[in-house]
Amino acid sequence: MLLEVAGLDLRYGATHAVKGVSLTVGEGEIVTVLGANGAGKSSLLKAIAGAEKPTGGTIQFNGRDITGRGASQRVRDGLVLVPEGRQIFVSLSVEENLLMGAYTRSGAEVARDAEEIFDRFPNLEARRHAPASVLSGGEQQMLAVGRALLARPKLMMLDEPSLGLSPIVVDQLFDLIAELNAQGLSILLVEQNTQMALEVASRGYVLELGALRAEGTAEELAADASLVEAYLGNA
Ligand code: ATP
Repeated sequence: MLLEVAGLDLRYGATHAVKGVSLTVGEGEIVTVLGANGAGKSSLLKAIAGAEKPTGGTIQFNGRDITGRGASQRVRDGLVLVPEGRQIFVSLSVEENLLMGAYTRSGAEVARDAEEIFDRFPNLEARRHAPASVLSGGEQQMLAVGRALLARPKLMMLDEPSLGLSPIVVDQLFDLIAELNAQGLSILLVEQNTQMALEVASRGYVLELGALRAEGTAEELAADASLVEAYLGNA
């Protein structure tokens, strides 16, 4: 397994946000984590990325225990997070935002990779010197993905990338996720858009109040009407 999370626990003071969650992502897989607002999905991803310190459990990535490693070391290891809300710096240019993704790297390869990302996203290339505030929500999400790609990840974690985007843009985003996966990138996708997530993923986990409520193949989860009704809504 590329990522192996075992018994992960995270508390914020009295709030027990993640309760002994175990999950895996295999090389080349798309795995989704579903759940209602406040289920602990973002907390789980932040703990895996090293942005929050877990209060228990272990995280193995690419054959090594990374539980105690710092966030930027994990980026160097090939584990990146595209955070909820994209976290674009709107006063910086599109290019400056993109290059931030390469903060763990240096050298001529970075410039070459940035050009490749601009080739992939012509809308970003057209505005590379403009402030990122001119981008639409969908373009900002593409920029957040491009920035993460600049770290040359093995595994990309995406936290609710479809949030606030129109249906057409959501379709484009999921096409991009499938395309990146076809090119070899492994993906851990947190979504409230259950239907789209289960279409693109091969397996999924359902979180409820911080604990795993269900896991299975995307087909199994999609076919479980009671699960969809009780925990996932019809988003
Ligand atoms: P959403 O989709 O709304 O982001 P989520 O499933 O990602 O929900 P989390 O954001 O991980 O859920 O929140 C899980 C629980 O932890 C919630 O009760 C939330 O209020 C709490 N929580 C999240 N971040 C913090 C924090 N920094 N300090 C204290 N409590 C927090």
